[in-house]
Amino acid sequence: MAGHKRASALRACQLGNDEGLMQKLKMTSVAPGFSDADRMKAIQQLAKALYWEWDSERREFRFHAAEMLSIWKPDLLPSGEIDTSLVAPSSQPLLRQTFEMIFSNAIPDPITFEARADDSASTVTYMLRVDPFQDEERSIVRGIIKDVSDNTVLAERARSAEQKLLHAVDVLHDGFVIYDSDDRLVVCNQRYRDLYPKSAHAMIPGATFSDVIRAGLDAGEYTHAIGREEEWFKERLAKHLTSDQEIEQLLDDGRWLRIAERKTVDGMRIGLRIDITKLKQNEAELKATLARLQKSELEARRLSVVADRTKSMVTILDKDGRVEWVNPAFTEITGYTIHELAGEDPRSIMRGVNTDKSVTQAVDKDIHDGKSVSGTMLHYKKTGDPIWIEFERQAIRDTDGSVIQHMIVAHDVTEHVRNTEVLAERAESIRAILDTVVDAIVTIDSNGVILTFNPAAERMFGIRCKDALGKNVNTLMAGEHHTNHSLYIANYFAGHTKNVIGKSREFTAVKADGTIFPVELAVGEMFSGENLRFVGIIRDISERKQLERIKREFISTVSHELKTPLTSITGALGLARSGAVGSLSEQMQNIIDIAYRNSERLGTLVTDILDIEKIDAGQMSYDMQESNIDQLIADCVVSMQPYANKFGVSLKICGKTDDPVFMGDSNRITQVITNLISNGIKFSKSGQQVEVRSKSTADTLTFSVKDFGEGISQELQEQIFTRFFRVDSADDRHSGGTGLGLSICRPIVEAHRGAISVESSLGEGSTFTVRISRNADT
Ligand code: ADP
Repeated sequence: MAGHKRASALRACQLGNDEGLMQKLKMTSVAPGFSDADRMKAIQQLAKALYWEWDSERREFRFHAAEMLSIWKPDLLPSGEIDTSLVAPSSQPLLRQTFEMIFSNAIPDPITFEARADDSASTVTYMLRVDPFQDEERSIVRGIIKDVSDNTVLAERARSAEQKLLHAVDVLHDGFVIYDSDDRLVVCNQRYRDLYPKSAHAMIPGATFSDVIRAGLDAGEYTHAIGREEEWFKERLAKHLTSDQEIEQLLDDGRWLRIAERKTVDGMRIGLRIDITKLKQNEAELKATLARLQKSELEARRLSVVADRTKSMVTILDKDGRVEWVNPAFTEITGYTIHELAGEDPRSIMRGVNTDKSVTQAVDKDIHDGKSVSGTMLHYKKTGDPIWIEFERQAIRDTDGSVIQHMIVAHDVTEHVRNTEVLAERAESIRAILDTVVDAIVTIDSNGVILTFNPAAERMFGIRCKDALGKNVNTLMAGEHHTNHSLYIANYFAGHTKNVIGKSREFTAVKADGTIFPVELAVGEMFSGENLRFVGIIRDISERKQLERIKREFISTVSHELKTPLTSITGALGLARSGAVGSLSEQMQNIIDIAYRNSERLGTLVTDILDIEKIDAGQMSYDMQESNIDQLIADCVVSMQPYANKFGVSLKICGKTDDPVFMGDSNRITQVITNLISNGIKFSKSGQQVEVRSKSTADTLTFSVKDFGEGISQELQEQIFTRFFRVDSADDRHSGGTGLGLSICRPIVEAHRGAISVESSLGEGSTFTVRISRNADT
């Protein structure tokens, strides 16, 4: 039993853990006459603690004599309940509850309660703590009731310090949290909860770090965890456990947190959550600004490369308009280097005497008003040579809109300006020509719409230009031309009638008052940009037609009036020279012969003139019959034989066709063959031969007359087909010609849908070839 008490006393000492107490213990252990109970009492007094034991078998308390000072002691009332008369009412339930546990052999957690001593009115705070004890004899519950008023003050202080700390932590702008060594949340501030609104409910003391993180994870609060939740969870936990590095965390609402966690020596983890959203934004903005800067620097570099290479003149001016930089093209074109221009106003250097003052004033005003300016102006190179410059000047502004520089991009347009001037002059002279010319000049588009109408046209058609423009050109035409004009244009585009271009033709036109009159029209084509235009030059040929008609009528009348008497004269002279009316003296014979030859010649002339007249009047009639060319040739050769004999020339048919039949007017074709053979004879020397040939294909028939006589020079070969044309010749054998034969042959051949041509060289002879269609209709 004594051992038990010692052990209990020692236990009490340990509980007191007080240096002074230990010394007292030593002292009392040596003091004589001290019982164990005395010692215990002393210890209890010193320690301000009541040690007691509860023997659960006997159901009694031990070591709590009534004399124990000022300490509330558990005592069983006769009812078996604990006496709480000295206990403050607020502590009574807790105390009773605790003792009920003890009485039923359970061990309660330590408690504090308020009670007062028997002799005192003031309450003291006690702590009650129990633990079970088992010795060889029995099991008891040991209890300590200790006056902890001092401890309470300390604890109060500690609590207030903690409160202050918590308060400080609460007002912290950053989230603050402490996890204990078991990783359970001890304390966190409101800010910590606010930062994680979706998992704040889990942030209660006692919750583990895992619980808190899991709640956030379930709520989808951690952006970087989405899609890899478990992996993230593990990583996060690992980082928390090491707590040696800072983490940046992006939350689902876009906020960024910086997490700093530190392990304390006693295994706690103190965590800080700092909202770095703004910082991140600034960082992003900074990055973007940096990127922009880099980009603009890149652009500036690119621009300078372009400016260096471009053919345009580029000038950079400072904000006051003084030259800062010019590109190589500027120097190359104007002759001015950057050294000569730097710091200068380019206007004062580049402008000169002939620069248009009205333009410069307008430009300078705009520059003064800070506007962008563009224009074309006469400037002067360093050499003094004028140069037309087209320019555009713009202000370069910084982000707040203030002008920092100006840039001028300019081009040398001298050539263009000169061309424009030349074109303007040309247009002016063309306008003058169009205004004064006698012929009407009308331009139409590809639909026949009138685009220009000159004053002569106004006079000719009696229509004002403004009324004519936009109308169809067929309003100027009469008869079939009026109806068919659009067809002409369509044909032109179909490629059938390109040959109208450049040729002149006649048609009948109509004036505004309905008068019909003949005109000659020459059409030209031109392109205006992409668009095809036709230019028509129209000449009023009323007068010419009138004169031609009068002339024709006169000639016709004269010819007819001549033909009849001439026939009788020729007949009479023929009779006389043949001696039918009596013999003639030699002199008389000569005179009659001359008269006869001249009357014959006059007869040919009259016949030719009448033919020409008919052709011109369109009255030449053709009697198209099935004819045989070789037959016609043979007949001609026979009839021309006497004439050939007279010149000592032989006639020979050198080739015949297998298929000599054709549709044609045999008389008119005979006229052509005769004319060609007669010319061949006339222009051959005595002893030479004139050869006639024919050949045919399925569609065409060709015949030719070849002589070996004097030939025709190249330049005259086309002219011989014009009226009254005769090559001058000393040979008087040729004097009998009229110069009309070939000009009659050509329209006859053309009426047979054919053509006549000549091949000839001087001194070697000529070959006249006629090619006609075998079928007059084709
Ligand atoms: P002409 O009545 O004068 O023969 P043509 O019209 O038949 O009239 O011929 C015109 C001119 O062409 C002739 O005057 C002559 O100068 C030239 N001519 C025509 N045929 C020949 C030819 N076979 N050889 C040389 N010149 C010719």
